[in-house]
Amino acid sequence: MTEPVIVRFAPSPTGYLHIGGARTAIFNYLYARKTGGKFILRIEDTDLERSTEKAIDGILDGLKWLGLDWDEGPNFQSNSIDAHRETADRLLKSGHAYKCFCTKEELDAKREKAREQKKTYQYDRMCRHLSPEEIGEKEAAGIPFTIRFRVPEGAGAVRFNDVVYGPIKKQYADLDDFVIVRSNGQPLYVLSNAVDDMRDGITHVIRGQDGLANTPKQVLIYLALNVPIPRFAHMSLTLDPRKAKISKRRHGEAVAIHFYRERGFLPWALVNFLVLLGWSPGDSREYFTKPELIQAFSLEGISKTNSVFNIRKDDPRFFTDPKAINTNAHYLRTLPVQEILPAVREQLEKTGLWDPAWEKEDARWFSNTVDLIRARFHTTVDFVELGRAYFSDRFPTDSKALEKNILKHDVLKKWLPEMAHRISEIPDFTRPSIESVLEEVLKEMGVKPGVLMNAVRTAVTGQPKGPEFFDFLLAIGQREVVRRLRQAAQWFKNV
Ligand code: GLU
Repeated sequence: MTEPVIVRFAPSPTGYLHIGGARTAIFNYLYARKTGGKFILRIEDTDLERSTEKAIDGILDGLKWLGLDWDEGPNFQSNSIDAHRETADRLLKSGHAYKCFCTKEELDAKREKAREQKKTYQYDRMCRHLSPEEIGEKEAAGIPFTIRFRVPEGAGAVRFNDVVYGPIKKQYADLDDFVIVRSNGQPLYVLSNAVDDMRDGITHVIRGQDGLANTPKQVLIYLALNVPIPRFAHMSLTLDPRKAKISKRRHGEAVAIHFYRERGFLPWALVNFLVLLGWSPGDSREYFTKPELIQAFSLEGISKTNSVFNIRKDDPRFFTDPKAINTNAHYLRTLPVQEILPAVREQLEKTGLWDPAWEKEDARWFSNTVDLIRARFHTTVDFVELGRAYFSDRFPTDSKALEKNILKHDVLKKWLPEMAHRISEIPDFTRPSIESVLEEVLKEMGVKPGVLMNAVRTAVTGQPKGPEFFDFLLAIGQREVVRRLRQAAQWFKNV
């Protein structure tokens, strides 16, 4: 029997959850679900100065919103600092680590000298061979020390097989005797991360490519402790169109998960888009349900080649990678309407347009209307902007449409109020009765149907395009249609 898979997402809570972090979480989540394994959430909060409560909340919210439920955690790394220190002590005892009494000033001076001589700096291992007496004396004198890992000497190399990058070899000679515990007793990330992975029985470390620099050191730690080494799968980078690495520092809010939520993304659309950055199912499928994606996922499908995330900021409506927008539009238009209602409601609430009746007596109207108008929309923000006329009697009118469909046609001065009047007289506001009013008026007016129909649409919805003619009239309702047609007639007077 093969061992059960245990993976983890281990963010450092120094900022909001961003595209890169979410992508790592998604890959871990999918691998756990695919294999029937366990997905642990670990918050690596040992950098107390940079970790914040707000960031922790943001990460948890983001993961929940994306639907990436974890099986264990959140475990906070700061709770296991003692275990990290104990591990360092064990490494000291077994001779795999040693105390280094060099001061910061001494080390800085040596680093500076190396720079002047244009050499790569490496610690000169001054303290590596101190005798027990020398160590005792220094300790007795109260000289602070760091703990360094004793990298093996000689011509050998650390080797491991990365699932994505293949065999990796790092010569011992190219590795510094790295610090594992600071002089103030604080363990370093490279140690804490490995010790927690050991404790949790992590079988696969799936993380960003930037973790690759630490991996040889962590492999040495595992070997020294004589414990199984997890498999590593490092994910290639995500670059912006200028081929710079995507980062919070460089791209700010534009890469934050909450930003996508605010801008009208559906969580599953974002997951679906992100998973295809650096992973492929091996065929040309672009859209997956959750079970399909879990089924299709494999570590072998992770690409070595960096992916490009075409962030664009020039257009507020299409503010991100066009592929992301298209994916969102796809789900917005094709998911069962019930599944998108919460996200639409969130936008309506945020903008003060939500009416509690749409949850109760008018719930059917609400879901029918969302279904009716979503066909042209890209994000849920479109419901409160392009679709505002369906949810509010205060809505903007597209100025080009107003000019072209209404003001240009003098004949409408008379006929818009007349149309309003005749619609107000309809006893039952149904499709056939509106249809007969329309036919009657068209005959009397003697214009092409488009002239009247475009004018009515623009007056009633503010938009030149939208759902089928009778559908939008029925969705907006008789009273409001009449009021808006009358109001539109006023526009002639104001120009
Ligand atoms: N806390 C590390 C980070 O956020 C985790 C790296 C890892 O997954 O090992 O980069």
